[in-house]
Amino acid sequence: MSKNFRVFATCDIGPALDVLRQRGYHLEVYPEPKAPPKSLVLDRVRSGIDGLITTLRDQIDAEVFEAGKGTLKVVAQLAVGFDNINRADANRYKVPFTNTADVLTEATAEFAFFIMGDLARRLWPAEHLTRDNKWGFWHPYLPFLGDEVTGKTIAIIGTGRIGLAMIKKCSGFDMNILCYDPAYQNHEFIVAIQETMDLRHARGIQKEKTWIRYVRFEEALEQADFVSVHVPLIREGESTTPTFHLFDERTLRMMKPTAFLVNTSRGPVIDEAALAHALKENWIAGAALDVYEKEPLPTDSPLRDPAIEDRCRLLPHFASAGKITRLSPDPDKGMAGRCVQGLIDVLEGSYGGDIKKMPFVVNKEVF
Ligand code: NAD
Repeated sequence: MSKNFRVFATCDIGPALDVLRQRGYHLEVYPEPKAPPKSLVLDRVRSGIDGLITTLRDQIDAEVFEAGKGTLKVVAQLAVGFDNINRADANRYKVPFTNTADVLTEATAEFAFFIMGDLARRLWPAEHLTRDNKWGFWHPYLPFLGDEVTGKTIAIIGTGRIGLAMIKKCSGFDMNILCYDPAYQNHEFIVAIQETMDLRHARGIQKEKTWIRYVRFEEALEQADFVSVHVPLIREGESTTPTFHLFDERTLRMMKPTAFLVNTSRGPVIDEAALAHALKENWIAGAALDVYEKEPLPTDSPLRDPAIEDRCRLLPHFASAGKITRLSPDPDKGMAGRCVQGLIDVLEGSYGGDIKKMPFVVNKEVF
């Protein structure tokens, strides 16, 4: 098969792109760090490229697929989330698209755990005391204390790949775990975690007995000390259990006033105006966020209100931003490697050209 494929990458995804160059592909990479304007993407697609490498910053919809009609064969996305790609449009134009699931699972889960600890133990305001020369003395409880994570109860909302990885990490911190997922319940995994908890207790590794169980959404919110969100962004009409504004005034008010919310999934899963309100009025104790309704976070966002600064951690969509996770050319280790491999699979017809067998293709129903 000819490898004279033409590929446009909307972003430099690092050394993994050399794999394509070495295979003789004609590769064009948008050189700026910011996303290209859509008009430029349309122009490149219209020029007859075979493959398009995208990130979550690119809106890939009917306009793009129309521009590539008859020539565009694959869209390879550098992310597990693909809410920027219109799946119905991709299917209508019969263009398979790929994602980079699994290789970012552990990095994203550990990041969720770390920002939960940062928030609960108040690391950011504590470091400010040191840096701003306000650390006047050691005192048993002044100027403030944090909340321990160990031994508390966490609710995991969404028990897919990253949710399960988060459970694994939380169980190591002797946490009780409430799970909620309306579409996918991995009972075998939950039984294995319970067995591990029981063994740790029996062998004296953890003092208290801990537990894990699936519960209703409301129950999870009402009982948890921490709520960590691991769902895809699903808009109204895309599923019977959409996640758009899953956390709004009604559901935020269900949480304990001492509870913390952690979101490393997608910004629109939380109604940010309601969350800012919740933090200001102390309906909940704090929030650690990596993703936002609009990214980058606008300067006038209510989440930037200095009145809630001590209990609202704001990270720049950074959860998968580990060196190996983002850039390794190895498709079993890095998003870049997996993105490139997904593109190659479709263009070169791996797996006998059977889309259904290609592990990184998302819309396996496309043909
Ligand atoms: P996944 O598909 O394996 O898991 C998602 C789970 O959410 C599924 O089990 C699904 O049944 C469940 N779900 C769907 N609707 C739900 C609802 N209404 N309530 C509760 N659960 C629901 O996906 P994953 O690999 O675990 O990734 C999850 C999401 O995390 C991605 O879609 C992406 O948007 C986000 N993500 C963010 C970053 C980051 O950098 N911040 C990195 C990786 C992934």
